[in-house]
Amino acid sequence: MSVAVACVAGVRAALEAVRDPEIPILTIADLGILREVRVEDGRVHVVITPTYSGCPAMHAIEGDVRATLAAAGYADVVVETRLAPAWTTDWLTPAARRKLLEVGIAPPVEASSDKNVLRLHGAAVACPRCRSSDTELVSEFGSTACKALYRCRACLEPFDYFKCL
Ligand SMILES: [Zn+2]
Repeated sequence: MSVAVACVAGVRAALEAVRDPEIPILTIADLGILREVRVEDGRVHVVITPTYSGCPAMHAIEGDVRATLAAAGYADVVVETRLAPAWTTDWLTPAARRKLLEVGIAPPVEASSDKNVLRLHGAAVACPRCRSSDTELVSEFGSTACKALYRCRACLEPFDYFKCL
């Protein structure tokens, strides 16, 4: 295996391969989990902020970061976990929101500091298919703990909603 000369752009490009285990269309950069990439004296520092402790997939991500960078030839990698400030769904990039809609998952309603939105009640979650906001919460837990199950009253389709935090 060749040893890559560490540069921030190269590391970021390699990390495009690290995806959310539950929503593989989203990279950790899309999710806002990837906070920082630094190269100091040839050593790669990657700073990640976990989504939330209820998300078991998060434990896999640090391992994926290490494995992906090792495969790309980065021998000297430090993965730091930064817990503060806490990750929120506000950190999802516009690209992430677009990708969620494309696969029929409603992206989180913004302004997660709104406690009503946080608890799902009263949040106007638009249907990812027909964009109607006439939707109802079916279950606080969708296909995974990170998602809630909604149903659209307009097109009658159920859909996952990426919960706000
Ligand atoms: Zn609909």
